[in-house]
Amino acid sequence: MNYDSRNYPRKEPGYRDIKERLSDYDEVEKSLSEEEIKTQASRCLDCGTPFCHGYACPLGNLIPETNQLVKEGLYKDALELLTSTHQFPEFTARICPALCEGSCVLSINEEAVTIRQIEKMIVEKGYEQGWIKPRIPLKRHKEHLAVIGSGPAGLAAADCLNQKGYNVTVYEKNAHPGGLLLYGIPNFKLDKKIVRRRINLMKEEGITFECDVKVGVDISFNYLKKRFTAVILAGGTQQPRDLDIPGRSLKGIYFATEYLKAQNREIINETGGVPEELNASGKNVTIIGGGDTGSDCIGTALRQGAKKVYQLEIMPRFPLCRSDHNPWPEWPRIDRISSSHQEGGFRYWSVRTTSFEGNKKGEVKKLHCIEVDWINEKGKYIPVDSKNSSFIIEAELVLLAMGFLGPGPDPFADMLRLERAINGSIKIDEKHMTSVPGIFSAGDMARGQSLVVRAIADGKAAAEDIDNIITSGSMALLKGYR
Ligand SMILES: Cc1cc2nc3c(=O)[nH]c(=O)nc-3n(C[C@H](O)[C@H](O)[C@H](O)COP(=O)(O)OP(=O)(O)OC[C@H]3O[C@@H](n4cnc5c(N)ncnc54)[C@H](O)[C@@H]3O)c2cc1C
Repeated sequence: MNYDSRNYPRKEPGYRDIKERLSDYDEVEKSLSEEEIKTQASRCLDCGTPFCHGYACPLGNLIPETNQLVKEGLYKDALELLTSTHQFPEFTARICPALCEGSCVLSINEEAVTIRQIEKMIVEKGYEQGWIKPRIPLKRHKEHLAVIGSGPAGLAAADCLNQKGYNVTVYEKNAHPGGLLLYGIPNFKLDKKIVRRRINLMKEEGITFECDVKVGVDISFNYLKKRFTAVILAGGTQQPRDLDIPGRSLKGIYFATEYLKAQNREIINETGGVPEELNASGKNVTIIGGGDTGSDCIGTALRQGAKKVYQLEIMPRFPLCRSDHNPWPEWPRIDRISSSHQEGGFRYWSVRTTSFEGNKKGEVKKLHCIEVDWINEKGKYIPVDSKNSSFIIEAELVLLAMGFLGPGPDPFADMLRLERAINGSIKIDEKHMTSVPGIFSAGDMARGQSLVVRAIADGKAAAEDIDNIITSGSMALLKGYR
């Protein structure tokens, strides 16, 4: 076999047939066969200076080395190498934008190696073959540690501390652990069974999950102080950006996260159906915000049976390929067509919504919109309304998907008066410690809205910082808390 990348173009698994996938909520992406994955791994150039792991991957995954093992069919070794840096490859293998692929050296002249697909094959083979099994620590330390929040950051912190032999309790305000992996990201991108499989493993490994507990409301700081040596706050970004325009208080206008959560709760059998007001069935739906969360709303609304779906973005459309200002190895800021976009809906760019209009019952019926031109004013681009470009979109359901403003008011953080950064996130030092000794923070709560892979890296780093403090006998750093 000639392992020259020019002989083997990049191959992606593609998606299930649109008609079929719109009739269910199952994962839409298919998988490549083992042979195809081996061929794809053989496209890796095994670069002297690989940008995929050193520059791009927040976890520092040893990608060329893993690819080499896959190419040789040494899947168990590949799994060991992958999991030496990455605790939950099954999540990122499905939903990571693959920062690594954006900086793959091969992508300078050709298409990048399908690193995410290779990761998916390795981890799924690991489960299939029983290579991934509970790793119960042989020795337990006396210290008990608490993690607040069970999204990817909290799970990574809990896993890391548990593997180091600490007694770990995770508190979660929702009924089940998983954070946005469970309640935010749609099932058609990340099947909830995949999340549950990992959580069950973590339970078997000795981690305690206490759900339906809102820390700061149901349990106090004093309670935590008595039970735990230190606490990691990984509460995510809970405050979505709002749109303060006339008509905002009309019925039928919701935040995207509320809408997606309702569908996910239905999928995990937490409810007996999506509430009527959050169900797109038979409705015209408009999503304000052109990002990934907006795209997740499109796929969900189409599956619920929406009449028409529109997605509005105030920014102009990205170019189809890298601009001169966005060279390799930077993440390519290019227009992407998600699986949901393929399924339907209408997308508009450079559009601003000026007001919502309702009926006598106070229900939203229309959006008043206008096109904008982006003008360079003293080096800063600003949107200016374009003349005679206003238009109306009919909608009975409007979803706001315009990003997040940090954690927002948080009962625990506010009770402790934790210092905030300018963007509203929890301020942390280089050891992930907040302004209160003994309280650490990780993930979106401390970094701002980001990605699953970064949340995992942050959670793990915060756990390692706590372990270093305890094992190096620097407990004085926790003074004030203890
Ligand atoms: C709709 C949507 C789709 C996304 N899709 C992708 C994607 O495809 N790929 C990707 O990489 N990223 C995606 N992201 C981003 C990604 O989900 C987040 O960056 C990531 O989940 C952040 O992890 P986290 O652990 O910091 O926070 P979260 O996942 O938000 O978890 C925080 C948890 O803390 C709990 N909590 C908060 N306060 C308390 C309290 N006081 N007591 C107890 N529990 C508390 C919350 O209930 C929640 O479960 C998406 C985000 C959204 C909103």
